[in-house]
Amino acid sequence: MNNSNPVQIYSAANLQEATLVVQLLSRNGIDAKVVSDSLVTVTGEVPAQLVGVPVWVAAEDEQKARDVIAAFRAERTAGDETPQLFCYHCGTGLAEQVETCPSCGATLDWEEE
Ligand SMILES: [Zn+2]
Repeated sequence: MNNSNPVQIYSAANLQEATLVVQLLSRNGIDAKVVSDSLVTVTGEVPAQLVGVPVWVAAEDEQKARDVIAAFRAERTAGDETPQLFCYHCGTGLAEQVETCPSCGATLDWEEE
């Protein structure tokens, strides 16, 4: 059952975003599912105030899917006024360019490209 264990890879703000992520993963060869698909089928309509739509992938695709989503989020935040900083070792969000990651302790090099 190793490759049939789904992993929640993302929690989208709404069904539209979840669908976007699924399509994005699909374009990268990853089979992703939105659990809310069944919700929609049961109720016959999209819940108006659905909060946190989980996107699932097979456990074997988890790492690749995380990479794809990280790139997706970087793209989305690119236009924001405050850039999102992440430790590139463990992915923890950082408020500023610290020399050492508070989460994993890795030494970070913030040299501009
Ligand atoms: Zn880290």
